[in-house]
Amino acid sequence: MNGISAAAAAGAAGISESELSALEKSGQFEKKMNFAALGKILGLQPQKLEAIAAGWLPAKKDLSGWRELRVITTQDTDGLSVNCYLIWDEVQRDAALFDTGLDAKPILDIIAAENLTLRHIFITHSHYDHVEALPQLRAAFPKARLHSGSKSAPVDQRNKTAEIVHLGGLRVTHRDTPGHADDGVTYLIGNWQEDAPHVAIVGDTIFAGSMGNGNGQWELARRTVREQILSLPPETLLCPGHGPLTTVAEEKEYNPFF
Ligand SMILES: [Zn+2]
Repeated sequence: MNGISAAAAAGAAGISESELSALEKSGQFEKKMNFAALGKILGLQPQKLEAIAAGWLPAKKDLSGWRELRVITTQDTDGLSVNCYLIWDEVQRDAALFDTGLDAKPILDIIAAENLTLRHIFITHSHYDHVEALPQLRAAFPKARLHSGSKSAPVDQRNKTAEIVHLGGLRVTHRDTPGHADDGVTYLIGNWQEDAPHVAIVGDTIFAGSMGNGNGQWELARRTVREQILSLPPETLLCPGHGPLTTVAEEKEYNPFF
């Protein structure tokens, strides 16, 4: 990241390159290292980095406060796991899906078990792991409206500025969050029963304690998170494409990138 070599970063931290790569993979590290120097060279906040390395995770979220919101996690054979999210209005039984993950089956199972009609499919970005199951879902629900930020999508499938999509009592809006992907979009879901906090489906814009690969646009990716995600109310539930759910307040306190 930021064009810093792994060797330089490891050197600053006082660890070997292979130890640094183990830390990146697991987020866990036994050996004592120089977080201040490592944070400085990587442009990360040293205290937050140390907390992450010590195994910080966001508090486990009880989703029963959001009616209805489900996380569906699918995996490929290499162990890559990706989240997608299904919401619905309890009364009308109309549902909306955010990304598709790698396999349509668990989604279709919930839709059938809960007697739902899938009305909308919102795409956070078109990286394959987020849209892999789209053809199966479109075949099952050909009338479901597709929404994305992709400029190559047909006009009627592209998000429109300031558009509000109603799903029974729930309201879905969006903000463009480019950086990790050019077509990156974050969807905001509000008007939950009993005033449950807003939900932000962020794709790979931000993760608990981390963020999506900047793909050569690190500055843009970071600015996007700062301006479009961390500016949301602190209690906002953040639903990333990979890893655990978190909140704006938790990321402000612990995410070493900010
Ligand atoms: Zn991605």
